[in-house]
Amino acid sequence: MSLWPVSSGLAGAFLVTHWLKRGRLKDELEEQNELSVGDGLVVSLAYTLRLDDGEEVDSAAGDDPLVYLHGAQNIIPGLEQALTGMKVGDARSVTVSPGNAYGQTDPDAFELVPYDAFPGDLELEVGMGLRMVESGTGRQMEAYISELRDEGALLDLNHPLAGETLHFDVEVVGLRRATSEEMAHGHAHSHGHTH
Ligand code: ZN
Repeated sequence: MSLWPVSSGLAGAFLVTHWLKRGRLKDELEEQNELSVGDGLVVSLAYTLRLDDGEEVDSAAGDDPLVYLHGAQNIIPGLEQALTGMKVGDARSVTVSPGNAYGQTDPDAFELVPYDAFPGDLELEVGMGLRMVESGTGRQMEAYISELRDEGALLDLNHPLAGETLHFDVEVVGLRRATSEEMAHGHAHSHGHTH
């Protein structure tokens, strides 16, 4: 006499599979909880970036975070340092001085360019961003028009955030170990991007 229906073997197999799957998910979650931000980890970061005057200049939401490889100089050094050791769910405010961000404004990084060097149909405005190719080297540069003078446009070749103290509110929303390919490339492959 058997207390079990004929199909008990299958039901048992199903239960075992189910249990293993749950166990594996639990391990992954536990591993994620144990990890803390450090070299060789891919960090998902929600953040808001403000300047001294409170103006918000950049942000990433928790459901569309910035994903970067820690320890590979993918982000500014001051922020990378401050994030080291944080765990998933940790949030903090971080102030980064220009020296640990985009540097001081370089007074020599301005260039007066005569108006006839610009395409004729381009309406120039202070604050306008331009992408330029240096003749000879082919090097690409970004510049902003800082002044319109009689002799030409004064271009600011500094990074737009040079000289700024940056105020971040950050939250670590995900952590995983980088793949060997990501380590070799020096950046994270996210959103299905691989190459
Ligand atoms: Zn890559």
